[in-house]
Amino acid sequence: MANVANCKKCGALFLQTSKRDICDKCFEAQNKLISEINAFVLTSPLESIMLDDLLKRFDLSRDEFEALFNAGKFVKIGQKVTFVCAKCGKTVPIANKTNFICSNCAKKLQNEI
Ligand SMILES: [Zn+2]
Ligand SMILES: [Zn+2]
Repeated sequence: MANVANCKKCGALFLQTSKRDICDKCFEAQNKLISEINAFVLTSPLESIMLDDLLKRFDLSRDEFEALFNAGKFVKIGQKVTFVCAKCGKTVPIANKTNFICSNCAKKLQNEI
């Protein structure tokens, strides 16, 4: 059963044929962006790239990145892209993160609760 739905990204009406909540155009653009980001990081001569620089370069919000990351789109670059832990200020690869704190601090937080 196909539903007509509003695209979550651009608001356009589209025929929803799967669980996807964005239209074909945005879906295509998103896929393109994902492969561009992966290619950029993988071919970069730098040892690591700050997540914020990456987001700025590709005009992506942390929330959008987070959603794609959780969907497993950035597994290949998880060790090379780094972020600053909001709790301890250490720079860690995004592969080791829970939300935007490092796994060490996440563990500590869990123990505190
Ligand atoms: Zn759209
Ligand atoms: Zn930390």
